[in-house]
Amino acid sequence: MRGLVHKYGGTSVATPEKIKNVAKRIIREKEKGLDMVVVVSAMGKTTDHLVELAGQISQHPDERELDLLLSTGEQVSIALLTMALQEEGYEAISLTGFQAGIKTVGPHTKNKIIDIDIDKVKDYLAEGKIVIVAGFQGMNELGEITTLGRGGSDTTAVALAAKLSFPCHIYTDVEGIYSVDPRLYKPAKKLEVISYEEMMEMASLGAGVMEPRSILIGQKYKVPIYVASSMNQEKGTYIKEYDGTMEEKVVTGLSVCDDILMVTISQIPDAAENMALIFDKLAARHVNVDMISQAASFEGLLSVSFTAKVEDRGAVQAVMDELDPQYHVCMESEISKLSVVGMGMRNQSGVSGRLFRILSDHKIPFRQVTTSEISISYAIDRLDKERAVAILSQELNL
Ligand code: ADP
Ligand code: ASP
Ligand code: MG
Repeated sequence: MRGLVHKYGGTSVATPEKIKNVAKRIIREKEKGLDMVVVVSAMGKTTDHLVELAGQISQHPDERELDLLLSTGEQVSIALLTMALQEEGYEAISLTGFQAGIKTVGPHTKNKIIDIDIDKVKDYLAEGKIVIVAGFQGMNELGEITTLGRGGSDTTAVALAAKLSFPCHIYTDVEGIYSVDPRLYKPAKKLEVISYEEMMEMASLGAGVMEPRSILIGQKYKVPIYVASSMNQEKGTYIKEYDGTMEEKVVTGLSVCDDILMVTISQIPDAAENMALIFDKLAARHVNVDMISQAASFEGLLSVSFTAKVEDRGAVQAVMDELDPQYHVCMESEISKLSVVGMGMRNQSGVSGRLFRILSDHKIPFRQVTTSEISISYAIDRLDKERAVAILSQELNL
């Protein structure tokens, strides 16, 4: 079977005209003799509107009901796209996540795909049909409708491609993967190719163009991924295994994440068990703690700062409320995280020195720093974000 998975994001199917345009793009591939499976997101900002709607009914909507609500967005776009293909004289069928055999596990609104019963999709392909699958949704072991977390249609597409051994094309509102989000830094360069590893790091550090789990699945099952614009035929970016022939840049890209909560706890009596207790409590409430720094003990008292996602504010607050009232707690949310990513950092020293120098020469204060094998991240005040993105991008030639 020779085929291809296409995925179109919300902006690309925002209006009936855009849906008709997508249908034409799919037909072009079908005419080349390819079996086509197409994953679509909800139209435009539908998912945001559904979240808002739930918020008007309840401050803490039940997550099972939220999944039921959010999954409706994709059901609209798959049916409309299928109708558009049928109007053009092509045989097509739309499938919800459940109908496409997508099995998931985990808590509602954050499910993960564990397997796909792919036979039904294969049967429709064998009948010559174009198969249109709702992104971002599946079904758990109890037969409940689930969703995969925001941006999850990328994961649906790559998982289907893995199961079918097809390549996966992600069509979106930018022409590929850029060194920096082109909406934050206009002169950013489009990358011809990027390794799964670097894309994974960039995506998990804030480059919203791809959902990180989709890259993880792509890497595990060696799915060739191509990211390009849904509006034109410009050459996009290939995401693939690092193969030694790729140029190993020291710095490939810069990712920016705005939804950062920074918490500083001071007046903690200097004992390791006090620190352990705080982080145990955070873990028990599923708070994903990111950067941590501890100041040297002064007069028998410690202070520690950490960052988490703003969406975990409620859980963090609950933990802070349980701490010894003598601790002093400060929570700030006007914080951004800037992360510089590059495979070359693995075997080239001096990158952090260079970054510290750039920030200090331009008087950009930072609040926290963390590193991984191929990235360095700085938490900075939101007010300094635009200037810092422009300066780092220029200085690093991104
Ligand atoms: P879709 O609805 O198609 O899934 P998304 O909004 O999820 O689209 O992702 C596309 C957006 O990702 C772009 O509009 C762009 O602003 C943003 N983005 C962030 N980082 C990057 C990057 N490094 N390269 C390209 N786009 C990026
Ligand atoms: N519609 C969902 C969202 O807006 C899934 C996606 O677009 O990938 O997050
Ligand atoms: Mg997306």
